[in-house]
Amino acid sequence: MAEPRLSVCLTFDFDAMSLWIGSFKTRSLPAISRGEFGGHVMPRILELLARQDVTATFFVPGHTALAFPGAVRAIANAGHEIGHHGWVHEDPAELDVDAEREVLEKGLDALERVAGVVPRGYRSPGCTFSEQTSDLLREFGFLYDSSCSASDFMPYYLRTGDRFSLTEPYAFGEPTDLVELPFSWSLDDFPLFEFCPGFSTAQATPARVRELWQGEFDFAYDHVAGGVFDLCMHPQVIGRGPRLHMLEGLIEYMKAKPGVTFETMLAHAERWKAANPIDRWVAQNPERAGTRSVDAL
Ligand code: ZN
Repeated sequence: MAEPRLSVCLTFDFDAMSLWIGSFKTRSLPAISRGEFGGHVMPRILELLARQDVTATFFVPGHTALAFPGAVRAIANAGHEIGHHGWVHEDPAELDVDAEREVLEKGLDALERVAGVVPRGYRSPGCTFSEQTSDLLREFGFLYDSSCSASDFMPYYLRTGDRFSLTEPYAFGEPTDLVELPFSWSLDDFPLFEFCPGFSTAQATPARVRELWQGEFDFAYDHVAGGVFDLCMHPQVIGRGPRLHMLEGLIEYMKAKPGVTFETMLAHAERWKAANPIDRWVAQNPERAGTRSVDAL
């Protein structure tokens, strides 16, 4: 296969009820039922992907896998990738190292038990890290993460050991072999569409979101050869009819562009890592290692 000009990774964070319980910490059944809607619409999302003949990546908390084992098996059986997304959508920054390790283990156990998969990719619930998250991901053998935003469309290697304070210069840590496939809140359906007081009440129209997303895609296609366009969606959000209709139109628009390929994040991360040995990459990207910062002079 010729090297694609731009890869499109459709990603779905199948949070279901865990988002409302773990992140928003609600005890309210009506709020939790908004997550249950994600399970309800999984068949129509899988049908759309099959109709368009594209493979995608689903980040699934262990809590969701146990609640909706049929849907999670259907994801795996359709050839889509399943990535790790915590146990019950807890914020890693609120956990000590033992609790964070336990959450990773519980998520892995649930995905293995339900779908027989061992994920190689991770997206943090809410896209937050503790200071030890990237080290734990390497300890557990993950190949890539997709929670950080230091690039828009070009993968990079994550560092460990950055140090920062209000008084000292930013101290860059050491690059590791953990691949980062960049995430952006502007390419996330939740804050654009959902009514969630204290977080977002945007409720944009599908046409408005398509304008935003297609504009980002067009820039990536024109200016970031070899990059990855990572769209982050949630079944409970994108699963509403008009929004899915918009997504299908956008997929058809992107598919019509020469040199665009749809692939899982795992496939992209493996290919990018093989093409970018870390020593060479660090030499070519000194700003990522902070070797040009004033502190390093
Ligand atoms: Zn999530």
